[in-house]
Amino acid sequence: MNLTLIPICSEIDHDLNYDYRSNSKCEICMKNHVSYRCINCEYGRCSMCHRDILAAEEIKERLRIAKVKNNIKIAEKNLKKDQLNDWDVMVVQGEICYINKLTRSYSYDYPIVVSPRKSPDISVTDQGNIHQYHESYRCHFSEIYNTIKSLF
Ligand SMILES: [Zn+2]
Ligand SMILES: [Zn+2]
Repeated sequence: MNLTLIPICSEIDHDLNYDYRSNSKCEICMKNHVSYRCINCEYGRCSMCHRDILAAEEIKERLRIAKVKNNIKIAEKNLKKDQLNDWDVMVVQGEICYINKLTRSYSYDYPIVVSPRKSPDISVTDQGNIHQYHESYRCHFSEIYNTIKSLF
């Protein structure tokens, strides 16, 4: 593990601590005091600008979460539509990831390649996989069907 700390600051990536100074300028509104200062560089901002930026970041984060949630919904809907019932949707570091519940494998790409849908640019080996998948899917479906039937 690399334990040497190299402070890298960009316009958006500062490590701010509460540090009131009446003789420093706010980088945003140019007021003559700052309430928060970066521990790695000279960047500082007043409490009002700090709050505004935090609020903006919160909104951005909320939008990001809403977008991820929406993407999950779309992905789940697509799986349902294509009857890919063995697949689940997960989010890995903000990215949609498809988990196969049966094989416990995962894919960042939509598992459409293993669907029984015919596509003219699929090679022979791919078609072999499709058949294999199709059969195991059918098998899975009949299991579910039998389970449902046994409930009645
Ligand atoms: Zn900084
Ligand atoms: Zn300010």
